[in-house]
Amino acid sequence: MTKKINKILIANRGEIALRVIQTAHEMGIKTVTLYTDEEINLPHASAGDESFNLGSGALKDTYLNQEKIIGIAQSCGADAVHPGYGFLSEKSSFAKKVREAGLIFIGPSPESIDLMGDKKTSKTKIQELGVPSIPGYHGDNQEISFLMKEAKKIGLPVLIKASAGGGGKGMRIVYDESEFQSALEGAKREALNAFGDETVLLEKYITSPRHIEIQVMSDQHGNHFHLFERECSIQRRYQKIIEESPSPAVTPELRKKMTEAAIKITSGINYEGAGTIELILDTDGSFYFLEMNTRLQVEHPVTEMVTGLDLVRLQITVAQGDKLPFTQNDLKQRGHAIEVRIYAEDPDNEFLPSIGLIKKIGKTTVRDTRLDCGYIDGNAVTISFDPMLAKLISWGESREVAARKLNLALNDILFLGLKTNRDYLKRILTLPEFHNGETYTHFVKTYEDKLQKKTPSKEQTAMAVAAFLLKKNQSSSNGQSAVKANNVWESLSGFRNI
Ligand code: ADP
Ligand code: ADP
Ligand code: MG
Repeated sequence: MTKKINKILIANRGEIALRVIQTAHEMGIKTVTLYTDEEINLPHASAGDESFNLGSGALKDTYLNQEKIIGIAQSCGADAVHPGYGFLSEKSSFAKKVREAGLIFIGPSPESIDLMGDKKTSKTKIQELGVPSIPGYHGDNQEISFLMKEAKKIGLPVLIKASAGGGGKGMRIVYDESEFQSALEGAKREALNAFGDETVLLEKYITSPRHIEIQVMSDQHGNHFHLFERECSIQRRYQKIIEESPSPAVTPELRKKMTEAAIKITSGINYEGAGTIELILDTDGSFYFLEMNTRLQVEHPVTEMVTGLDLVRLQITVAQGDKLPFTQNDLKQRGHAIEVRIYAEDPDNEFLPSIGLIKKIGKTTVRDTRLDCGYIDGNAVTISFDPMLAKLISWGESREVAARKLNLALNDILFLGLKTNRDYLKRILTLPEFHNGETYTHFVKTYEDKLQKKTPSKEQTAMAVAAFLLKKNQSSSNGQSAVKANNVWESLSGFRNI
């Protein structure tokens, strides 16, 4: 049954709220946005046709307050809710309540969210479907001694993961048996804090993997499609910072196998809407199911740029009960797209989030680039929300060109006024290892030294000053003019490249 959507309430904030509004307006659909007291000056607060203030306080009283949000949707006559990512997007109880209130949830069924939103239950299901998952333990027994035995059976190193996990939280690697107990306790504590559920699972820790994920899209008529892969191996704290499509590591044969596995899952669970099947690719070419995200992903723009599709439009199409307007053969990956996530954080201090006032964001005129940004000049970045400021995406006919354009565009996107990872991202994009496609999940750790800001050590400074003085003395004693530069780094070519 099809039902045209006329008004969407967006149960989210920042760049993703703006992203959904953009497509909704293009489709002639009205939008309703939410904001908290402290967000009054943020663009999403006034970008909807109507806006509602959620007040202030803890997230559970604002963006996670299911009853309040559904109440607003009903009172303003919205007929659908888009959850964005994070927040309530993977809460089956929310999807269920939205439906019970007679509204359309723009996402999969509560049953699919329940089944796939939990890492433990989803692994059991995908094993039934015959898709390989990482060797490990994902049963109900949570006793320390039992889990320890299982860890030994799997073989160290193992990764302890929160079953309800997301955003890299509640994960611990164990290399040695003696670390197991404290790592387990740490993971459980973090999981309980972040997700209200301390259930964990164990996985064999793959030491040199790539993160490859398949974008899927299914309609309510049993049509299941894939929109190819994204590689998201460049991560810090188990969270992605650079994503691209296609992956430099995926051959046509491997792509065929991975996308077939993804479709096996979506058709096997009768999925509907947009989703992502995350896979881990080992160095020998074998791959394993990692998890499924039953929502729109942060990095969806790279898929949009290589396929020319609008994923939010497709989500709305599916939610209205319409058929997806293509066949698998119509879909093509064209050229190459790369996304960087610009965060308010300090890469020189363990990527700790930073706060402050955005003095100037900047604009770029580099062709084929896109900035999805949740802020405008003058906005404050606080600790209340995720420190992601914006996503900058580029497209090029080749990976090389896309990387070059992205690097040029990053020169223009300044985010003056607070500490960001902008320069760090530029360093990654210009590293030869990045160009060679040596993108493993330990990239950031492996090239830690090369990616460090080039601040000279005390010894280097002393050497530079000595060399400078020596050179100055020599040139004056030769009767030549003294070195003009007033900065030792400028005058000593070569030294800066250490
Ligand atoms: P993706 O899986 O789309 O690549 P992430 O895993 O980084 O992206 O998570 C998407 C966003 O949702 C991030 O901004 C992250 O901080 C947030 N997030 C993830 N899990 C949760 C959660 N359980 N509660 C609230 N926010 C979350
Ligand atoms: P989240 O829900 O936080 O996104 P994931 O299970 O998707 O958690 O894992 C996040 C990241 O952690 C992966 O992209 C990968 O880099 C790393 N990771 C997860 N599982 C493993 C594993 N078994 N071995 C090695 N790395 C892993
Ligand atoms: Mg993940």
